[in-house]
Amino acid sequence: MADRLPRSRSTILVAVLLLTMALAAALAYEAWRAARSHRATAERALRDYASFAAWEFTASSKGKMYSSILYLFNPVMHEQPLRPGERLEDPGAILRPTAREKLCPSATPFAFRLDPSTGVLVFAGSAPSPERQRQIREAVKADLPEYVRDFGYRTITRDSGVAPLSLVYQVKWGPHDTVAAVYGVEFCVGSLAASVFHTVMESGTVLPPALTRGLPNDSLFSVLVWDFAGHPLYRSPHQYPATYTGEHALDAYGGLHTTISINPAVADRLVIGGRPKSRLTLLGALLGLTGVLVAIGLLQLRREHELARLRSDFVASVSHELRTPLAQVRMFAETLRLGRVRSESERARSLEIIDQEARRLTHLVENILQFSRAERQAVRLSLRSCALAPQLREALDSFAPLAAPRRVRVQQSLDERACAIVDLEAFRQIVLNLVDNAIKYSPEGGQVRVLLRTTGEWVRLEVEDEGPGIPAGDRERIWAPFFRLERDVSSAVAGSGIGLAVVRDLVARHGGRTGVDTRHAPARGSTFYVALPRADDVSGGDADQSARAREEADERERATAGAEERT
Ligand code: ADP
Repeated sequence: MADRLPRSRSTILVAVLLLTMALAAALAYEAWRAARSHRATAERALRDYASFAAWEFTASSKGKMYSSILYLFNPVMHEQPLRPGERLEDPGAILRPTAREKLCPSATPFAFRLDPSTGVLVFAGSAPSPERQRQIREAVKADLPEYVRDFGYRTITRDSGVAPLSLVYQVKWGPHDTVAAVYGVEFCVGSLAASVFHTVMESGTVLPPALTRGLPNDSLFSVLVWDFAGHPLYRSPHQYPATYTGEHALDAYGGLHTTISINPAVADRLVIGGRPKSRLTLLGALLGLTGVLVAIGLLQLRREHELARLRSDFVASVSHELRTPLAQVRMFAETLRLGRVRSESERARSLEIIDQEARRLTHLVENILQFSRAERQAVRLSLRSCALAPQLREALDSFAPLAAPRRVRVQQSLDERACAIVDLEAFRQIVLNLVDNAIKYSPEGGQVRVLLRTTGEWVRLEVEDEGPGIPAGDRERIWAPFFRLERDVSSAVAGSGIGLAVVRDLVARHGGRTGVDTRHAPARGSTFYVALPRADDVSGGDADQSARAREEADERERATAGAEERT
């Protein structure tokens, strides 16, 4: 059919949609990978800054410790080596009051002078026990070969043995590079280091100012320093989570271990351009949206296919529905025109058939026109409040000739006071479509019941038949345009698939509802119903009309009963 979608076109469309999805997924993956790698680079840079800061912090502290220890020995050291006959300074000069504070505030400090050639030890301050003195002598003698002249002093730190030992000593040279004496002092790394670390933390430049832009060290990072034995020596006041940390170990002073953690809140300031934000939500949303769009596209395409198929089926079935009555009309009109009828009753029968088929054609064309008006949004209703029973009766009467060939009895049970605001033509079409279906799908000789009653705020029209019923899964779909049940598409029952769609559209325009119930036992069949908003009782003309209609109906029923009795 011309209106079906060409297969190649839809294949291309499906391929393009799927390609779009695949492309979007690939792009999202690439973007996610790039963002992840940027983030990893930024985090690596932050960890490098932390390592650099740890190194710089340790180096600055080491420098400051070096000069403050060197300063202790100033009173006993002179630029020149000891001249022959020159007296050695007393070690007590090392223990000036300010120096005492720095060395070991908690213990009673001492200073010593050792003559390495004789092993004579002279003490100032509170001299330690003989055992301790022996320990000091041996430790200094053992360390002396490591002494490098220009390095100023050496530290000895021993954690093993009975008592831990922390000494710092300097050599006083004699003539010809001989060791004249060794001056030394006991010190506590912790107290000396703590004051130095505090100073560096307060005022030292640890990270490049171009990056920190004036932020104090305490806002940039936190510091933890341990000694050689793992005892904490210093802890900066604020401690930040160990997200971006760096470490540095110093061998001097028995080993110092510094860990610096960058404050995550200032991490964006330190990395040029800031840390890249996670784009996961955005990418997920983009991918999801593309997925939804592609799914909608595929669904639309399927619908378009379905619609094209339904339209082409519709054209075929309408042509078929038009052709059959037209052929009948032409055949009987020809018979009459050529005077081929043998009797008066045959002539009446021919005219009856022509009338029947013409009515069928009218009904079909009216449905198609109404359907097309609804599609173009061009339906105009002229609403008026009226009693529905007479209108219903009139519609059924006009339809009776179409029901006759299938010998289906149409039984009516109408509430004469049922009243709604309706467009008469539309109401007629609603009734005829439902009754036409009921007759069409009923077995020959079956019975169709038409009920009209008032329930609460609604006037309910029900059309019951004894047909095959509607499968539960199709009870909504049958109201869609062009839809026909599979069993009817392949059967001899003609139909266009727009009757119920017209009913639903017209009822909705009246503010009403439509539906279908199926009975399985004891009798099979379906009940199609239409509920219209109820109006107050009709007055004047309509009420009279209603009464008249009722009388006519009674008369007709009497006449039918008489005729049945006669047969
Ligand atoms: P059609 O012209 O095919 O009758 P309709 O829109 O009136 O189109 O109905 C849609 C389909 O619903 C029909 O093709 C038929 O399969 C099913 N149907 C409608 N009314 C009945 C009924 N009373 N009993 C059984 N099936 C029905």
